[in-house]
Amino acid sequence: MHDDFNYSGERFADIQILRYRLNGFETLTLEQKRYAYYLAQAALCGRDITTDQFGKYNLRIRKLLECLYIYKKGVSTSEEFRELTVYLKRIWFSNGIYHHYGCEKFAPGFSEEYLRSLIERVDASLLPLRKGETVEMMCDELFPVIFRPDVLPKRVNKADGEDLVQTSACNFYEGVSQQEVEDFYAAMKRPDDDTPPSFGLNSKLVKDENGLRELVWKEDGLYGEAIRHIIYWLEKAQVVAENYQQKKVIGLLIEYYRTGDLRLFDDYSIEWLQELQGSVDFINGFIEVYGDPLGLKGSWEGLVEYRDEEGTKRTQAISSRAQWFEDHSPVDDRFKKRRVKGVTANVICAAMLGGDEYPSTAIGINLPNADWIRAQHGSKSITISNITEAYSKVSRGSGFMEEFVIDDAARLMIRTYGDDCDNLHTDLHECLGHGSGQLLPGVSPDALKAYGNTIEEARADLFGLYYIADEKLVELGLLPNHKAYQSQYYTYMLNGLMTQLVRIEPGNKIEEAHMRNRALIAHWVYEHSKGAVSLIRRNGKTFLLINNYETLRQLFAELLAEVQRIKSEGDFLAARELVERYAVNVDAELHQEVLARYRQLNLAPYKGFLNPWLKPVVDADGNIIDVVPDYSESYEEQMLRYSREYGFLS
Ligand code: ZN
Repeated sequence: MHDDFNYSGERFADIQILRYRLNGFETLTLEQKRYAYYLAQAALCGRDITTDQFGKYNLRIRKLLECLYIYKKGVSTSEEFRELTVYLKRIWFSNGIYHHYGCEKFAPGFSEEYLRSLIERVDASLLPLRKGETVEMMCDELFPVIFRPDVLPKRVNKADGEDLVQTSACNFYEGVSQQEVEDFYAAMKRPDDDTPPSFGLNSKLVKDENGLRELVWKEDGLYGEAIRHIIYWLEKAQVVAENYQQKKVIGLLIEYYRTGDLRLFDDYSIEWLQELQGSVDFINGFIEVYGDPLGLKGSWEGLVEYRDEEGTKRTQAISSRAQWFEDHSPVDDRFKKRRVKGVTANVICAAMLGGDEYPSTAIGINLPNADWIRAQHGSKSITISNITEAYSKVSRGSGFMEEFVIDDAARLMIRTYGDDCDNLHTDLHECLGHGSGQLLPGVSPDALKAYGNTIEEARADLFGLYYIADEKLVELGLLPNHKAYQSQYYTYMLNGLMTQLVRIEPGNKIEEAHMRNRALIAHWVYEHSKGAVSLIRRNGKTFLLINNYETLRQLFAELLAEVQRIKSEGDFLAARELVERYAVNVDAELHQEVLARYRQLNLAPYKGFLNPWLKPVVDADGNIIDVVPDYSESYEEQMLRYSREYGFLS
């Protein structure tokens, strides 16, 4: 049965859909399953919120296309209908009309005339029309957004020197300039408040005839229709929670959704951190701020998870020794934490993904985000083993290693140790890397400005790269021998120097923080390696050759020390120099070669996940007596069902 599981779903555009399997879900108790089921319902109820946050017109466009798709499905085989289908699938994937990763607007492969002709043939009562709105008015509003490349072209614009609020299409602000937003929130800060709420996290900021004000996302506020459903399922979950602490956590979350009070969100986060006993856990709320160019507004997301007991032994072996790792790291003593606090690291299986985590999801998450909570109470970090499992299963047999890895010996090494090393590197990055080190007194956490994210990711990655080669990990039984780490060094350098370029369009630079970080590390090390790392030509193709792995480790240590210094001292100029020199630019010739080699493998650069359909088994009295995951749904079936069952916003 294990081997029969079908991890691969369909492909379209630059996307491959995968499935993840709920390993061991059947061994949870009935109460735990019911708890997970109710939380899973809550995780799906916010889908429309995320879509609306990612662009003002997203929901209407999605609904319009769904309506046309259902009308024409199975009838039309025209090229334009195929293109319309791809466009709709991309909207589902990205929660809107912008690329989930690059943030640029999709260019539809069908014409305005075609769309209009379909709309005219559909029964108008099925179209997403507002009260009093004609079909013509709807087309006038939506067509420029869909078809004109110059209208709202980017969801999140971070280009230096522009008004980032006015040039970003995300739906967090209306009628305001960047300056007005910055002033509005600066005025809320109190210098003497050492437990400041995350101002702006759960609201849209608008300016109209009533002045500048926040429309708060809460039960009787903006997105109330969806939030009421979230609360409904949270209340059911609260009744069957595994322990008192979980009930308390859910109670605070409900109170926060009711009132919109950000101090309650902080109370909730602190209690959530302290819930460590249960097997089932969750994330539900306005969490990550990457979708806002100013990093204030939280995108809605949901996740339900249960502990992977085997994997968790691995992370606990690391996290329980966090102080040892801190003390032995190669950074200057002034930048080390005297006492590392509250690092909780779990390996978990996802049971449901929602909102900003669906279908494209993270493989590691570390929360909460509020700096003062992290400093005073620590953080909870997870790595998602059934997601990494799915990635690994589908990558085998893809031909990728045969094309890009230099020889059989290197391939064998990666096949033998690659999965273990990847998991371990993610654990080190999430549970130790981000939590390590400290700022010098008086240094602002924002001192590195736009370079901050890249430097922070590099710091966490380097911490992992340095330690994955440490004797300590073999001693702890986390790696089988002293050479296994070399697999990680090879794949990391290969990715940073070459293969991650498959995600970049010809002529573009590297923008995304994680990609910049990997390029930074790989290129800096390459340049300083004195031949320990080289790129050689064989049969007209470029390959990575690593001659000396010990040298590589020394270089990772050196760069970690420097990156930590930059962060601890807030050395903006040095951050800019490092990032601009090593992390941004692309060698056009190598890029072209990598793209060509990748293209002939016919693989998708981005992947995302179908959810299982969690089906309750009910007895004659209506009691849930079991919950069983069903994996048979297709991508479009799932998306259309979600739109029907969880489409709470108009
Ligand atoms: Zn990270």
